Amino acid sequence: MKRVYNFSAGPSMLPEPVLRRAAAEMLDYEGSGQSVMEMSHRSKVYESIIFGCEEQLRRVMGIPDNYKVLFLQGGASSQFAMVPLNLLNGSGRADYVITGQFAKKAWQEASRFGQCNVVASSADKLFTYIPTLDPATFDKDADYFHICANNTIYGSRWVDFPETGNVPLVADMSSCILSEPVDVSKFGLIYAGAQKNMAPAGLTVVIIREDLLGHTRDTAPTMFNYKTMVENQSMYNTPPCYPIYICKLVLDWLESLGGLEKMAEINNKKAAVLYDFIDSSRLFHNNVEKRVRSIMNVTFVTGNEEIDKKFVKEAAAAGFVNIKGHRSVGGMRASIYNAMPAEGIDALVAFMKKFEAENA
Ligand SMILES: *Cc1c(COP(=O)(O)O)cnc(C)c1O
Repeated sequence: MKRVYNFSAGPSMLPEPVLRRAAAEMLDYEGSGQSVMEMSHRSKVYESIIFGCEEQLRRVMGIPDNYKVLFLQGGASSQFAMVPLNLLNGSGRADYVITGQFAKKAWQEASRFGQCNVVASSADKLFTYIPTLDPATFDKDADYFHICANNTIYGSRWVDFPETGNVPLVADMSSCILSEPVDVSKFGLIYAGAQKNMAPAGLTVVIIREDLLGHTRDTAPTMFNYKTMVENQSMYNTPPCYPIYICKLVLDWLESLGGLEKMAEINNKKAAVLYDFIDSSRLFHNNVEKRVRSIMNVTFVTGNEEIDKKFVKEAAAAGFVNIKGHRSVGGMRASIYNAMPAEGIDALVAFMKKFEAENA
């Protein structure tokens, strides 16, 4: 069996110990005589998985007691609508910062439900930086303030989150959740599609401060009401059972490594190895402002589309797959989420060096 180094932006790699354990438990989960895929979500055995997963996520992320944790379907993209349907009902206004394509999509979708102001944008320089904010431009009566914490496509991230005072800060953390410690109490709501750092596709995690519940508009679909989901412990209908189980195994793995502090240390080291090489390279360049470079998605170009294409092709043949940049930016992108081992980065850098020697 030969496994590749998969640099996909999502769905992406899962830790090998997680896959092995899932395989071992596949046919008979803890003596239940069935796989987790087959069991009733109302069974005692499944309850121990979903409630256990929540308890572990709370412990790993240090989620305060006045926050609810939801396991939903629909992806982060559904949250682009679910957030305004539930929160955009006071002044009917919200502030958005546009730092990439997902931030823009979130803003566009929310704009269908109320007045969503663009406080700042980095579109002028192809999202290669995070704009400096002037708090005087914030709407003090906004129902919330939305950011995308890590810009998956462009490879930038917020290093210091905005101070929004009494206005709840809402963050799309799809591509950085569980990559480093985060002070949850700074946020009103955090959401993440799980397929980057938590689990297979199909699960969306929402962490919401309790006082933000109960403001949902009447016309919101029942399935899109956070309160419905809170009252039913994410089991108003069938939850994404198997991804929740894998999420629990991923959290076991994270805890065995030493939790988020340790994860951040590993991730920072991994990213530094790649960025240091790119910065010293005669062939490859990264265009993101150094201070805000993502430690999860590393973008790079050679400046020549033909050579970029050649690199992607030769990399795939050498076992480094899905390293092509997003279709909107071109070039290359190495997504190096938690599950990408340090050896994967070392091997990639060695391959890049060889390619540079042959092509620069
Ligand atoms: C992947 C991604 C999304 C889209 O997630 P889906 O679950 O496919 O809807 C949204 N935001 C960010 C930051 C992402 O990385």
